[in-house]
Amino acid sequence: MRIRSSKQLLLASLLLICQQCIASAQTPEGRLAPDTPWATPYYIIDTDQPGPTVLVVGGTHGNEPAGARAAAQVMHWPIVKGRLIVVPRANVRGLNANSRYVPGADRANRDLNRNFPGPNVKSGEPRGVLAWSMWRLVQKHKPDWVLDLHEGYEFNKSHKPPAGKKKSVGSSVIYKRGPTTDPLAKAMQSAVNATVTDDDRKFTLLSQGPIATGLTNACIHHLGSQAMTLETTFKDQPLSLRTRQHRVMVNVVLRHIGMIDRDCVNVVDAMERDDKTIVVGLYDGGGTGAGGVRTLTDMLDKADGYRVHHLGPADIKSAVLKQCDIVLFPGGSGSKQAAAIGPKSRNAVRDYVNAGGGYIGICAGAYLCSAHYSWSLNLVDTKVFNKTFDIPGVGKKSMWYRGKTTTIKMELTPAGKAMFGDIPLKFDVRYHNGPIVSPKGNPDLPTYQPLAYFRSEQVKYEPQRGTMVNTPAIVASRFGKGRVIAISPHPESTPALQPIVLNAIKWVAGQVATAQRAGTRD
Ligand SMILES: [Zn+2]
Repeated sequence: MRIRSSKQLLLASLLLICQQCIASAQTPEGRLAPDTPWATPYYIIDTDQPGPTVLVVGGTHGNEPAGARAAAQVMHWPIVKGRLIVVPRANVRGLNANSRYVPGADRANRDLNRNFPGPNVKSGEPRGVLAWSMWRLVQKHKPDWVLDLHEGYEFNKSHKPPAGKKKSVGSSVIYKRGPTTDPLAKAMQSAVNATVTDDDRKFTLLSQGPIATGLTNACIHHLGSQAMTLETTFKDQPLSLRTRQHRVMVNVVLRHIGMIDRDCVNVVDAMERDDKTIVVGLYDGGGTGAGGVRTLTDMLDKADGYRVHHLGPADIKSAVLKQCDIVLFPGGSGSKQAAAIGPKSRNAVRDYVNAGGGYIGICAGAYLCSAHYSWSLNLVDTKVFNKTFDIPGVGKKSMWYRGKTTTIKMELTPAGKAMFGDIPLKFDVRYHNGPIVSPKGNPDLPTYQPLAYFRSEQVKYEPQRGTMVNTPAIVASRFGKGRVIAISPHPESTPALQPIVLNAIKWVAGQVATAQRAGTRD
C-alpha cells in the first residue's frame, strides 16, 4: 500500500530492514530471445542462503493466461533460500493474441511446448528461437525443480471427448512417478481440491509424465530435474480462480522444499514497490460479466503504470487487498457481486478503503458501493432510483431496469474535467442500467462530489421519464482515509473515454490531489 503517514513510513522502513534478508524481484534479469519479436523478460530472485534452484514458467501457450498471471505473482513471493527463476510470459506474442501457438514462428515450431529435446535423443537441440533461448537458460542454471503452468480447455475429471479425441488435461497435475513426486503431487492435489466444490472440476493426477517434447519432460530427462506441468481449466472459470489454483499448487511445492517458510497463496504482489505502478485488484468473480472484465483487463494491461490482479471472492480479504492500491468492481449485477463475496468480504472492502485503499465501481460496482441496499458497501452517500411501479399491462416493475445497452449523452463538471484531463466536456457514452443516484443523507458519510452528469436518458417505463437526465453519472467521495469513485455508465467500452477510468484509478490510488471542488451543480 502507498505510504501516507509518518507512522506508515516508520513501519515500512522496519519492514524494509526485515525484508533485506528476503529476496524479491522487480526488474528483469534479462530477456529470452532478445532482439527478436518474441523477446520476453525473465526474473532471477537470489537469496544468500544455499538451497534449490526452482524455475517457474507461465504463458508457454498464449491462450492459457492464468499460468502467466500466476507466475508473475509467484515471483513476488518472499523466498528464504535458494534461487527462484521466473519466466512469466514465455510466449508473450501468443498471450497478446490469445493464441496457443507462437505468432510468427515456422509452422513446425509454432507450439512452444513441442520444441524441446525429447527423451530419445542424447543431446538434441530445441527448435525455434524461443525454445532455444529457454533451453540455454535452463542449461545454465540447471534447476532442481521446474513448474510449468498451463491450462486445459476442459476438466480432465469429467471431460467426455468425441470418439477418437483425447481427453483435455485441464485441472490436473502432470508428473512422472517417483519417490519424491508421488507424495508431493498427492499433496498438491488435495490442497487444490480442498478449494473446489464441484466434483466434476476436481483435479486429477496424470502420472504418466508430461508431453515428450515439452519443457518439463526435457528437464526431467536431460537435466534430472523434478519437473511438473500444472494445469488449470479456462472453461467457465474466472482468471482469479485459476491463478489462485496455480498459487495453491506452487505453494505446496515451495513449502515442501523449504523455499518459503510460510503460506504464500495470498501473495500476489510486492509489499514494497516503487510509486510508478498502481496495483489494481480487479474483481472478476460471481456477479461480473466476462465482457466487462476482459475490456478492463485489456485496458489496464496496455496502459503504462498499471498492474492488474484478478480477485475472486476468496481473494477479497485484507491479506490480499493490502497488496493493491485500489480495488475495482466492474459491471454485472451489484446484488450478485455482494452475495458472491458475502458479508465478511464486504466488511473487508470497507475496512480496506477506510484505511486508505481506493475503490472504483462501474455500473454494478457503483450499485455495490452505494448506501442504498442492505447488501451495499455504504462507501458513498448515494441512494438509487429503484422505486417499484405497477405498470398497466406489464405488472410490478422495479425502475432500475431501463432496457438494453444504449448510448447516453454525458457532460463533465469542472471537477471532472480537472480529473479526467484531455476529454471533451460533452460526449456519448455506453449505458447499461447503471444506478441513477441522489444523496442518501447518511450522516456518517461525507457529501459526494459529482464529476459528470447524464444529459439525456433512457426510458423503458413511463415513470422513469425525467428521472435520469441531469443526475450524476460519476461521483467521487472520501471514505475514512480512502477515496471512492462510482461510475454509472461504461466509459471503458469506448477507447477514447478510457482515460476517464484510468484517471479515476489514479485519483482513488492517491496519486492525484483532490480535484478542486466544483462550487455549484452546473
Ligand atoms: Zn498448455
